[in-house]
Amino acid sequence: MPSLLTAELVRLNARAASKQDAIVQASELLAAAGFIEPGYLESLQGREQVSNTYLGNGVAIPHGLQEDRHLIRRTGVAVLQLPEGVEWHDGERAHLVVAIAAQSDEHITLLQRLTRLIGDPQQLRTLVEARDPQILVDALNGAVAHTGPSVVDSTPADFEQRVELVLDYPHGLHARPASAWVATAKRYQAALRVRHGDTAADPKNLVSLLQLGASANAQLVLSAQGVDAGDALVALKRTIEALSAEEHERAAAARARRQKAQPVLWTPLDPADVFEGVSAGPGFSIGTVRVLRAAQLEIEDRPGNTVDATHQLDAALHSTANELEALTRDTAARLGAAEGEIFAAHRELLNDSALLEHAARLLLDGHGVAWAWHQAAEQQAARLAALPDPLLAARATDLRDVARRVLKHLGENVATPMRLDTPAILIAEDLTPSDTAMLDPAVTLGFCTVSGGPTSHTAILARTLGVPAAVACGASLLKIADGSEAVLDGTSGRLYVGVSAQDRERARQTQLHLLEQAERAAANRALPAVTLDGHVLEIGANITRPEQVRDALANGADGVGLMRTEFLFLERHDAPSEDEQYDTYRRMIEASGGRQLIIRTLDIGGDKQVPYLNLPHESNPFLGVRGVRLCLRRPDLFVPQLRALYRAAKEGPLWIMFPMVSTLDEARQAIALAETVRAELDAPKVPLGIMVETPSAAAFADHFAALVDFFSIGTNDLTQYVLAVDREHPELARMAESLHPAVLRMIKQTVDGARKHRKWVGVCGGLAGDPLGASILAGLGVDELSMSSRDIPAVKTRLRGSRLDALQALARRALDCEDVDAVRALDNAEIKAAA
Ligand code: PEP
Ligand code: MG
Repeated sequence: MPSLLTAELVRLNARAASKQDAIVQASELLAAAGFIEPGYLESLQGREQVSNTYLGNGVAIPHGLQEDRHLIRRTGVAVLQLPEGVEWHDGERAHLVVAIAAQSDEHITLLQRLTRLIGDPQQLRTLVEARDPQILVDALNGAVAHTGPSVVDSTPADFEQRVELVLDYPHGLHARPASAWVATAKRYQAALRVRHGDTAADPKNLVSLLQLGASANAQLVLSAQGVDAGDALVALKRTIEALSAEEHERAAAARARRQKAQPVLWTPLDPADVFEGVSAGPGFSIGTVRVLRAAQLEIEDRPGNTVDATHQLDAALHSTANELEALTRDTAARLGAAEGEIFAAHRELLNDSALLEHAARLLLDGHGVAWAWHQAAEQQAARLAALPDPLLAARATDLRDVARRVLKHLGENVATPMRLDTPAILIAEDLTPSDTAMLDPAVTLGFCTVSGGPTSHTAILARTLGVPAAVACGASLLKIADGSEAVLDGTSGRLYVGVSAQDRERARQTQLHLLEQAERAAANRALPAVTLDGHVLEIGANITRPEQVRDALANGADGVGLMRTEFLFLERHDAPSEDEQYDTYRRMIEASGGRQLIIRTLDIGGDKQVPYLNLPHESNPFLGVRGVRLCLRRPDLFVPQLRALYRAAKEGPLWIMFPMVSTLDEARQAIALAETVRAELDAPKVPLGIMVETPSAAAFADHFAALVDFFSIGTNDLTQYVLAVDREHPELARMAESLHPAVLRMIKQTVDGARKHRKWVGVCGGLAGDPLGASILAGLGVDELSMSSRDIPAVKTRLRGSRLDALQALARRALDCEDVDAVRALDNAEIKAAA
């Protein structure tokens, strides 16, 4: 953050006859420095009418009203040092008046700095007594920017520039699209406002947006003020509209699921207690009930040193953010991108300035850090829970979930008793997404909750995990005695308790029948991916841990086409040792049982950051030191990994693959280092390959093919680099279509290059898991397709129903298409002809 406070803006040894006088003096300083228009004084005074700007321990932070940001020319701060003080609020005297004119919501930094100062009476005294303005400048610089809570404003007036729109989201504005709005809004300096009727929100603040309660077809007014107001409005509107198609697709998929979920799998013939809820995960199970009566979180108020408390809260928020980032990536890799986004939205909740400000105020009032945080979060959650739209009200669960993580990092024992030792059907008031993501499907026969909804994040995760579930079953659910025998029909959302012996037997017959059906489907999955004319494709799974191999094989994988090792480095405080890595790779070999196993070396950088490596900030991380570039610069990371891999290679087959290679020299260096390590360990030679995920690697495929043993095409990165679209960009990500003919041409070039040297080519990017993508890739001549385990059955079904010559014709035509839509349009025509 630039220096916003200079010595000229500090008035030492000042006197103020009244609070009003102090504000006038401070605004004069700001105006003289060119930060504000004179009219901003009124705004500073207006703020005092609606809120208390006394922060504590003699520090006050007057700041203008949010809607007056247009009166700010530049963000700046002015300080009045008042050794005698002036009465500010409720008998409290201010000795340091820090007047803030902030254009945007860079927020929190100021509070953090000031709360630290306030909690440190000695330093504060130094500032009040200082005779050199530079002492104040040094203490406060970098701490500027927040103009006050950006939560729902009770007196909303649109900013000057405005546009109107109708919210075309079938489920209204919920956390996932709202996070994308926030990401767009934050890219602009302008003050932005979204108004829905007489409620307004700051689109840079997720909770504020959720509190708008904007349901489907809500009339919204977007308005903006400030330097880039026009651009900000255009971009925000575009983001909002661009998400509409996706929201409709998701709603249609949910509808289809619900329609499919209607059939009742089983009904008892004898009387039984029926708890009717809403299906949240299809499936059928019989078992013992475990009732989890949620213990009310009792957080003791343990007042302590405010400085320490602020540091602790800071550290806990930081650790939680890192944990949620890791969880986002891990969940995306394990369960899918949409499931990962649930935790990305959770991370955004941590940035809620109103929540942080509330917690900071409670700290300054002398409360303990955990208590202050819990109170602030609970109040915020209660506000969300009170919203009339159940979908939005459900976000309270998300906030409580995030808050609990922070409490854990603050040392509170908030452990959930979710772990089941023996198989059981879980009954709870509600489950948070984190609880659900942690459920072990091996022992969780299903779950039923009193509250929750079918579109809640909990339900999404339950479906992905394949756990039968019913939500919104009503409060009487908790009256069920722990240990009761029950039958759960997750497909229709019904739980039966007190079932007669005959009915239990009938239920078992139904279960057996359903199991046989599933086994038949599994048997089909286990068949090879062979086309109608006998061409066989290898099918790999993309996984991160040895424990996932079983699921991959059950879904029909022939082996592991991509093990992403960076997940070994996440969710921890230091890098895993060589021995720890060796153990994981050895277990991976064991689990793979001699099947194909491709292990990719560390791919850190870009979207995958590891905090403890303390890597320098990069403005373009995707174009920065990532993948093999990092490994070659950090032998302290690379050599132990290579040693662990070669030690494991003595136990069974594995291939080693280097990510993000863009030059021949990088490949040569990586191979040379691997060979040195291998020779030192006297380990067997293993195939060494590269990911082809940069345009240069694709264009130079013939050169690379002479150097390496195999290629695996990373279409996710290749697409972003070929199309110059950041794969995580909230507005552009939908453009990052791997089916784009430009990407397909790069893939063809890669296959041609490999063929020149008779080298094996696989594909491990997302395109391989899309039935149409897989068909084109097969037609382009790749040897292997590696994908998320759950994508395998659909891809196999498609390939087993096609002829190779038809797939080749499809690929040829796709290469000649003009755009993605044209490629998609080929789908029906070609595949139907082939089948
Ligand atoms: C890819 O880029 O396609 C790939 C498989 O690697 P990742 O998604 O891990 O970057
Ligand atoms: Mg990649």
